[in-house]
Amino acid sequence: MICNKCGRQVIEGANFCPVCGADLRYQRNNNSGSSGYINPNDETNFGYTLLSFFMPYIGLVLYIVWLKEFPKRAKSCLNGLIAGIICIIILFCCVYSGRSHSNSWHRISPESVISEKTGV
Ligand SMILES: [Zn+2]
Repeated sequence: MICNKCGRQVIEGANFCPVCGADLRYQRNNNSGSSGYINPNDETNFGYTLLSFFMPYIGLVLYIVWLKEFPKRAKSCLNGLIAGIICIIILFCCVYSGRSHSNSWHRISPESVISEKTGV
């Protein structure tokens, strides 16, 4: 949990903030059941960012599953997911433009170029 007086990370279940000495019992009772609940296991994880980057479908599923319970972890997945999708789009554009290039290259066959030049 986070002390709402000094903003430092405090051990879950502590009665007083070790940094500023604020009474955390009041804060905890105030937060319980409300939207202020933060899952102690919720952390940003670069591993999940990488996973989502290489496997966007899995990243999307993890993001949806964790969105409510682990918002930070879900955001890690989302970051990887977005980066992965952008890379796929860039890759797709490269392959597509590469293909259309080779298509136009094929249309002008070497034989027709040679016959044009030599006049055969
Ligand atoms: Zn404090």
